[in-house]
This record gives sequence, C-alpha cells and structure tokens, in this order.
Amino acid sequence: MSTSTDTLVVGAGQAGIAMSEHLSRHGVPHLVLERDRIAERWRTARWDSLVANGPAWHDRFPGLTFPAISPDGFVPKEEVADYFEAYARKFDVPVRTGVEVTRVTPNQGRPGFTVETSQGTIDAQRVVAATGAFQTPVIPAIAPQDERFTQLHTADYRNPEQLPEGAVLVVGAGSSGTQVAAELNRAGRQVYLSVGPHNRPPRAYRGRDFCWWLGVLGEWDNEVRRPGSEHVTIAVTGARGGYTIDFRELAHAGVTLVGRTESFVDGVARFASDLRANLDAGDANYLALLDDADAYAERNGLDLPPEPEARVIPPDPDCVSNPLAELDLAKAGITTIIWAAGFSQDYRWLEVDAFDADGKPSHQRGVSSEPGVYFLGLPWLSRRGSSFIWGVWHDAKLIADHIAKMRDYLARYDSPGSVSATPSASDAASSTDSRPRRVS
Ligand SMILES: Cc1cc2nc3c(=O)[nH]c(=O)nc-3n(C[C@H](O)[C@H](O)[C@H](O)COP(=O)(O)OP(=O)(O)OC[C@H]3O[C@@H](n4cnc5c(N)ncnc54)[C@H](O)[C@@H]3O)c2cc1C
Repeated sequence: MSTSTDTLVVGAGQAGIAMSEHLSRHGVPHLVLERDRIAERWRTARWDSLVANGPAWHDRFPGLTFPAISPDGFVPKEEVADYFEAYARKFDVPVRTGVEVTRVTPNQGRPGFTVETSQGTIDAQRVVAATGAFQTPVIPAIAPQDERFTQLHTADYRNPEQLPEGAVLVVGAGSSGTQVAAELNRAGRQVYLSVGPHNRPPRAYRGRDFCWWLGVLGEWDNEVRRPGSEHVTIAVTGARGGYTIDFRELAHAGVTLVGRTESFVDGVARFASDLRANLDAGDANYLALLDDADAYAERNGLDLPPEPEARVIPPDPDCVSNPLAELDLAKAGITTIIWAAGFSQDYRWLEVDAFDADGKPSHQRGVSSEPGVYFLGLPWLSRRGSSFIWGVWHDAKLIADHIAKMRDYLARYDSPGSVSATPSASDAASSTDSRPRRVS
C-alpha cells in the first residue's frame, strides 16, 4: 500500500465511490480504504427482503443504470451492492478493501494528516470521512433489562424465521420499522407497532412515483429542515412492487398500532397518547404532497390522470379509536422487541477539530471546521437528498470541487513569506494546462 496520497477517502459505500469518481474527474490523486467489502452495509447490515426505496431509474448514480431491472422496478439489496462494485470497476476506483482506518491526527508543523490503518500508516493531505450515517444501531436507554425478551435492532433483523415463536413489538415506524412490521404480520405473527412522528408520501400519485414528485417540486433540494421536523422519520417502501404506507390499512390487516414507546416497567410497556396526533400529522403531510403535486400539474399543464381516490383515508381501526396506554408484554405473548430507532455515527478514529460541543460533525456542506477534513453521506449535509444514493453523488461533487479549488490555491504558493506579484511559473503553466499542482 502506498504510504502517501493527496486525498484519503475512508469508506467504500456509495459515498466513497461517488467521491472517488469526482476526485478522478479533477485529477486528484487519492485512495479509498474500506474495512470490509465495497457497499458492505447493503450486503450484511440489512434484512433479506429489503429492496431500494426508490425506483431503479432514481436510486442510482448518473454513470450507470441497473442492467437487469426495469427502470420502474425496485432493486433488491444484493443487486444494489453488486451495482456499486460494478460502478467502482467502471470508474477505476483506487480502493483497498479489508483495511480499517483506526486513527487520523493532524501533522504538526507541516500540512496534512497521519492516517493509521490496520495495514500501516499513510500520510494524506486531505481526509474524506465517508463512513456512513447509518452506522451504529441505536437501542434507546429505555430498553428493558429483561431476559424474557429477545431484543434486536433492525440492522440485525433478517427474516421472520430468525425470531423465536410469539408476538413482536416493533418500536419505530419509519421505513425500516414499518417494513419489518408488515413482513412479520404477513408471516402470521401478532405485531404491535409503536408509531412516532412521520412523513408518509404516496408511493405514486397520478402515475408518477413520489421520488419524481419530490424532484420536480424541489423537495429533495431543500437545504433546510423545517423547524420541529428533526425527529420526523419517513415511511416508504419499494417492497412487493412498492405501495403507499398507510398505517390504518396496516392495522386493518392485523397490526396493532400504539403510540410512541415511553418506558418499560416490570414487563409493562407504556405508550404516549400521541398515536392519533402522529397519524393525523402523517396524513396531513401526505395530503399536502398531493396538493402540491396537483398545483404543479395544473401550473405546468401536465396531462396526468386525476386520482381522487388517493385522498380517501380509511376509517380508524379500533387500536386508533381506543389506543393502548400500556401493554403487559408477557401477557400479550410478546417474545421479541425489534428496535427501529435509527443509527448514530462513530468518529472516534478521527482525532481532529471537526466536531461541535455535542461531538457532532461541524461542517458546511461537508467542508469541516478542520481544513482538509470533509464529511460525506450525512443526512442534510447540503440538502434533503444528501444521505440517499442520488443525493450523495451530488454532494461528492461539491466536495471534490472544494478540494480542487484548495489545491489550486496551494499550487500558487511559492515559498513561505514570499508571494510573487509577477506571474508565477504555475500561472504561466495554468494558461495551457489547468491541472492542479502539488506544493513541493
Ligand atoms: C435499512 C436502510 C435502507 C436504505 N435504503 C435506501 C434506499 O433504498 N435508497 C437510498 O437512496 N438510500 C437508502 N438508505 C440510505 C443510504 O443510502 C444507505 O444507508 C447507504 O448505505 C449509505 O451509504 P454510505 O456510503 O454513506 O455509507 P455506508 O454504506 O454505511 O458505507 C460506509 C462504509 O465505510 C466503511 N467504514 C466505516 N468505518 C471505517 C473505517 N474506520 N475504516 C475503513 N472503512 C470504514 C464501512 O464498512 C462501510 O462499508 C437506506 C438506509 C438504511 C439503513
């Protein structure tokens, strides 16, 4: 392994691969280090039946289509991983797999960083942390210390057969919790689903997928989260050809909905009295998107078939009219609790001044407060689409542009304390050759 590089990219998920493509376009020498395999999380950190949440025409990078899937189909997770491997081959990504980055520290008295890895030390002028937003599964502190129940995070859920016999409490109703609850319900399990604040866009409306609607409406490009929406998750699925998540329909199919899970005391789970409010807010979000879509279609004279039936909200099931305030888990036959409570990030390996007082990455559009350190793949890094497949590709471009710009500034450095007022050799060269130059 080479012992120095200009830009070191840590992680070869989609973020690291996109980063490499854009660095190559700028002619920036770089290396991508991945501790497992390319796109490992799509292979081993997701359940068996998972397919991409967006259609194949949308959930991809510009440089390659999915060869074996129709553009409107939803790509199974293994094929998503295969896609990124093929992408890395197509764009000659200089990736080394099986190499973990264990520590990054700023060099003293000279530019760059010392990068310690499981296979030696590398000197890098810049480091891009592309280690993923959905990294460390979160199981909240309220989880009961009770050996009667099997508890796992959705990152460790694979299929219904993996779980012991009995009913299941799924805590969290974003895309993961909802999909897992629906799968368990179809497999004949009694399922309780704890529903917090959520958005639930229509899978499709007037013949167009919601990914298309959010695109044309400019929603994916929103740069700022709406105030108060920090804990609002999104419930969508591409499973079984894709359908709109409707919690009331899920309840009519047999799932018992409960409010946000607040505590467990002596085997009894207590739920907030917010179930109806959460469902109503989800419906309002759903209907608002239909309104925006209709207004856009009318404004632009789009010939799309009207779909008035999309506005019909099913009647309240009993579990919504008479919500449970608490549940004795053992009496309800519950043997498993599945936590669909999200993920956190672990940057302990990155010992630089790029974090705020809460330990969160401190950055603007991925450019961190420590010059030379970048973050990629985080939710809302630059916009709403940032943590998703199509969004990270665009963010990687922003970061590569920044790196190229900084290299260009540095290429204009003559020697410490002397800035030439006359055209330098590199200025002269740049008139015929725009490639950035290293400071020697
Ligand atoms: C259940 C689930 C479903 C999703 N479905 C979709 C979807 O359908 N469409 C969509 O657009 N997005 C989806 N996402 C969101 C996002 O696209 C994925 O999470 C995606 O895997 C993120 O890619 P990434 O490259 O940012 O991070 P990751 O895929 O997490 O890749 C980071 C890589 O860094 C490596 N790494 C970490 N630390 C180190 C280290 N110290 N040294 C070396 N390597 C390291 C890891 O091994 C990993 O391979 C989903 C997320 C989840 C959790």
